[in-house]
Amino acid sequence: MTNKYVYDFKEGSKEMKELLGGKGANLAEMSNEGFPVPPGFTITTEACIRFFNEGEILWDDLKKEIQFQLENLEKTIGKSFSDKSNPLLVSVRSGSVFSMPGMMDTILNLGLNDVSVEGLAKSTGNERFAYDSYRRFIQMFSDVAMEIPKVRFDHLLEKLKEEREVELDNELSAEDLKELVKQYKRVYLEEIGKEFPQEPINQLELSVIAVFKSWRNPRAVIYRKLHNISENLGTAVNIQSMVYGNMGETSGTGVAFTRNPANGENALYGEYLMNAQGEDVVAGIRTPEPISHLRDIMPDLYDEFVGYCDKLEHHYKDMQDIEFTIENGKLYVLQTRNGKRTIEAAITVATDLIEEGLITKEEAINRVDPYQLDQILHPTFDEEKLAEAHCIATGLGASPGAASGRAYFDADDVVIAKQNGEKCILVRGETSPEDIEGMVSAEGILTSRGGMTSHAAVVARGMGKCCVAGCSEAKINEEEKVMRAGGIVIKEGDYISLDGNTGKVYLGEIAKVQPTLSGNFGKFMEYVDSVRTMGVRANADTPKDAKQGLTFGAEGIGLCRTEHMFFGEERISFVRRMIMANTLEERKAALDKLLPVQRQDFYELYKAMGDRPVTVRLLDPPLHEFIPTREKDIKELAESMNISFQNLKDRIAELQETNPMLGHRGCRLAVTYPEIYRMQARAIIEAAIDIKEEGYEAILPEIMIPLVSHEKEYKYVKAEVLEEIEDVFKERNNKVNYLIGTMLEVPRAAITADKIAEEAEFFSFGTNDLTQMGFGFSRDDAGTFLSDYEEKGIFESSPFEKIDRDGIGELMKIAIKLGKEANPDIKLGICGEHGGEPSSVEFCHMLGLDYVSCSPFRIPIAKLAAAQAAI
Ligand code: ADP
Ligand code: MG
Ligand code: MG
Repeated sequence: MTNKYVYDFKEGSKEMKELLGGKGANLAEMSNEGFPVPPGFTITTEACIRFFNEGEILWDDLKKEIQFQLENLEKTIGKSFSDKSNPLLVSVRSGSVFSMPGMMDTILNLGLNDVSVEGLAKSTGNERFAYDSYRRFIQMFSDVAMEIPKVRFDHLLEKLKEEREVELDNELSAEDLKELVKQYKRVYLEEIGKEFPQEPINQLELSVIAVFKSWRNPRAVIYRKLHNISENLGTAVNIQSMVYGNMGETSGTGVAFTRNPANGENALYGEYLMNAQGEDVVAGIRTPEPISHLRDIMPDLYDEFVGYCDKLEHHYKDMQDIEFTIENGKLYVLQTRNGKRTIEAAITVATDLIEEGLITKEEAINRVDPYQLDQILHPTFDEEKLAEAHCIATGLGASPGAASGRAYFDADDVVIAKQNGEKCILVRGETSPEDIEGMVSAEGILTSRGGMTSHAAVVARGMGKCCVAGCSEAKINEEEKVMRAGGIVIKEGDYISLDGNTGKVYLGEIAKVQPTLSGNFGKFMEYVDSVRTMGVRANADTPKDAKQGLTFGAEGIGLCRTEHMFFGEERISFVRRMIMANTLEERKAALDKLLPVQRQDFYELYKAMGDRPVTVRLLDPPLHEFIPTREKDIKELAESMNISFQNLKDRIAELQETNPMLGHRGCRLAVTYPEIYRMQARAIIEAAIDIKEEGYEAILPEIMIPLVSHEKEYKYVKAEVLEEIEDVFKERNNKVNYLIGTMLEVPRAAITADKIAEEAEFFSFGTNDLTQMGFGFSRDDAGTFLSDYEEKGIFESSPFEKIDRDGIGELMKIAIKLGKEANPDIKLGICGEHGGEPSSVEFCHMLGLDYVSCSPFRIPIAKLAAAQAAI
């Protein structure tokens, strides 16, 4: 730590984010790069931390440093802070290392008081402007620094507008605003018990304290929790000389993205408002103009702005989100940062930037968050159903996706409804940071006010949540909890659907369809594939899953759970008869009925996968999972088996186990009933021969024996399977290549892996069971108490979600080391849920696995995580 706590913009750079916060570092960078940035200085994040450590006061040396920089600023600007005729005004802006939209508050026009407001009016010749600035300052200072509810001021403003019969605040006259200032000051006096502070330095110190404190306001804390941002970073405070967008019709303020943050299209994208200041654009008070209109009214300035956008994009090598202000026809840049974007946009921008030669493919790959990728791998509305749906209003497609749910008009109501298992849409005039939790709980968000950069839009995009914003056709009454749109009244609890791509709002629920890998997404995944070294397969039990896996680029099937094939209408009855059989003959008879169905399943699966490998796991779950529980089904089964109801009930009772997950399942079943696995092996091989005879020469089924704990058990089961396979070869007078191996999911197997590997051609880590048995946490019950572990900070995340590298991961390491010693050619994969979780995928890459296997929808996520791990 240094003793310097305050930096002039000229002293900083974009590399100093941690110290100066993102906003401060970029303001410094832009100042030094010659962009028109109003001068100013930054109080560091270290000062913020010290502030909290020292009882929340500003210490003397800090005050001196601020004073020094202030005098410096006065010299640069040629105005002074307490000057009554030509006052220096500043903004006080928070800014932490990570940008937190709307989380912390800004105060503008600081330095104004009853005397200097007159000076400002005279020096600018614009009295209206001066009083507009003053009333804004009083409100912002009162709200941010003194916690006086904003509505108290809003009410007065609304009332005055009504009295004057005007709609917009910029239609109020200088006299009106003077009156408003009086009223505002009265509110301040009422609320605080003191006059509004007149001394600028006093105003400034109170504001700095408020910004520091806002680091710990509950909204900011929730946001940080949500985004895993540390509490110990602190916020910087930027003090910057003001420029005025509210000086008249040649002044204004706006925000722009250098590319479209919703879809990534390479076109300037943004909004502005003339004669406006600060947050007016995003607050949804007046509806802003699209940035392209600026070209019509101020062509030169527009060109200048486009030039800055280009320069900034090249400088930062990424899409920028830029805030600007125009003062009397002169352009100022007030902020730049890497723009938040939807995952669609992230992919398109990354791909385009590679092609534009701005970044390498590795850099591009590292910029897309695999966790965020999840958002585009989810369904969209079924086009046909959509065409039939009744559109009741259209707003802005502010954040893509499709959402259906019940309308709720209050964020807290959404939270409650979600807890009751409902799907909800949050419907608001406009959202504010207080609505965060409701936004998290909602399927989608609908607002009637605000543009593409409104709070709702920005936050929803960050969360990957579908959002339709600025839907002014929908008349939303939050108090009465109704919305009127397209002649229809939507009450609380009624179903609506939102299309975040088109901005359309529909009545009722709409069916959805699965997404595909196309366009830029496809291109991006090609880059990912070119960098990745570890294979990625799908867990797929049906040809449909397999095809879904292939659309997402699966390189094979890493896990086909055969039990899922047992649940079809017809087959389940044979499965049940097989389980309930009293004799070997009866069991074989039932298995004979299952054989052709299984064979057909495998045939179709191979066909779908072409030349790609398919790993089939032999029957795994405890048998009682297939047994009917309803009386009616038990009766039916008894009849079909020609035994008495009571007899069957007794058999069922016998099958009950105290700890089924540690019971009679996996290869243990085959130790008792080898004929089950023999039937499955026969089906696997017969189907493979069928396919081979059709010309798929490369067919290579991988037969996987689950839940092995001891090499002898494995050898016994394997021998049974091999015998059956040899029989098939003889009968068919043909052969296929196949692999036989085991799932590695019991700790004992991991630490004796060398013995098992002598006879196994592959290991596939079943990390769900390995975690369950390694920790002794029952997968079915741990959910109820693992959340306590997370809450109390014992675990950062559930080991069922993210692989526990130190424990379960160590078991994997041991198994790999021993396995390779005994069988250097052994193939290694993972097929537990972890196979699609980015941090676990990274770990698998580090372990040197040949592939991960995961659900079809997570394949692109796993691929991206694998590519990032390889960089
Ligand atoms: P946020 O982090 O919420 O975006 P900012 O600190 O960027 O808050 O301030 C919000 C807005 O206030 C800016 O976009 C800009 O329009 C306005 N603003 C901030 N500082 C100044 C300034 N020095 N002159 C004019 N406008 C300013
Ligand atoms: Mg900003
Ligand atoms: Mg298992």
